Amino acid sequence: MYLILLGAPGTGKGTQAKILAERKGWLHISTGDMLREQVAQKTQFGVEAKSYMDRGALVPDVLIISMLQSRIREPDAARGFVLDGFPRNLAQAKALDHALTSTGKNIDLALNITVPDEELVRRLSGRWICRTCGEIYQESTRPPKVAGRCDKDGGELYQRNDDKPETVRQRLADQKPPEDLLRHYRRKGKLVEIDGTQKVEDVTKALLDAMKAGVPA
Ligand code: AMP
Repeated sequence: MYLILLGAPGTGKGTQAKILAERKGWLHISTGDMLREQVAQKTQFGVEAKSYMDRGALVPDVLIISMLQSRIREPDAARGFVLDGFPRNLAQAKALDHALTSTGKNIDLALNITVPDEELVRRLSGRWICRTCGEIYQESTRPPKVAGRCDKDGGELYQRNDDKPETVRQRLADQKPPEDLLRHYRRKGKLVEIDGTQKVEDVTKALLDAMKAGVPA
């Protein structure tokens, strides 16, 4: 299956994409993670992307589309993937359609996880991530057992630059899935809305149920 998880930052699409990919043996492709890797390696691409990421803006399509297109052409993407963080706009969606159809594939479902804004601000400002394994913690709902340390491997927890409160509101303003993107998948009969305010395991169940039910009528 080729799945897309849509949703504003903080809706839990990263967490859910990881869970689904692990359960189903699919590849998890997160454009945010790919970009952060480039930033950490200080590649020319990473340096350019960082200036956008740090202020909560989207990286220009011309940079991100070619990165995604080469990733989905790699052999490990052939068994299915969960896309997390891409597409963010209609141009990206069209480029994705094009890249897939040229290899005889198609998106099966676009699952849009929705959460009210006030809840998103609270979630993002309290998000901490393990530097070693990428595990995600949430100050109020899922704190680590020892402050600042990962439960799994003791790694140091850090807060993403773009999760700092001053950037969070900008990201929400700029990065909610735009209506024309949702319409693109709705018209194809592939959009399913999922209530992201439920517990993590209930959101996973809703996603799995939607996948079982297949393409909506
Ligand atoms: P994320 O981890 O998905 O929240 O992404 C972190 C940051 O990476 C975003 O705030 C954007 O600056 C950038 N980014 C990730 N995916 C995309 C995309 N598909 N298009 C443009 N920018 C992106």
